Amino acid sequence: MNHFQMLSTCLGMFLFITCNQAQSTQSVSDKVIVTPQGDTIQKVIKSEAEWKLELTDFEYFVLREAGTERAFTGAFWNKKEKGTYVCRACGFPLFSSDTKFKSGTGWPSFYQPVNKYCIADKKDNKYGWDRTEVRCARCGGHLGHVFPDGPKPTGLRYCINSASLKFVEKE
Ligand code: FE
Repeated sequence: MNHFQMLSTCLGMFLFITCNQAQSTQSVSDKVIVTPQGDTIQKVIKSEAEWKLELTDFEYFVLREAGTERAFTGAFWNKKEKGTYVCRACGFPLFSSDTKFKSGTGWPSFYQPVNKYCIADKKDNKYGWDRTEVRCARCGGHLGHVFPDGPKPTGLRYCINSASLKFVEKE
């Protein structure tokens, strides 16, 4: 093996190791949620074809294409029963009826999620608006947006599509 071959072999190995490290660091945070207690929860990762099979066309539009249902048309904007609202796509618990409030917007509104890790948020500047989009942290499904004009104690308003939620009644 001459010097040039040696050098390219070393460089190749270096790149292989570096890339692998980068990939594994990324894949850990992509595949699990780490709770503040240090527990890990597997994320739900499916292809768009799989989601299409599992969701109705409208649920797919809202959850996977970040669509919005029309105000006052969803199943939960006016719901008052006690229970938990879970992600319609993956069943992850997201909001409790205890934090639901009447916002007058026509979408189910909550002042906080059930915990600090169930929601992932992301800046959304679509249409020139400065909004924060909220997604299910486990499956990445679009839920709605969060605004800083909610009631106490958080001052937040999670404005959520009914189509992104499933209601589980309190026993
Ligand atoms: Fe989900």
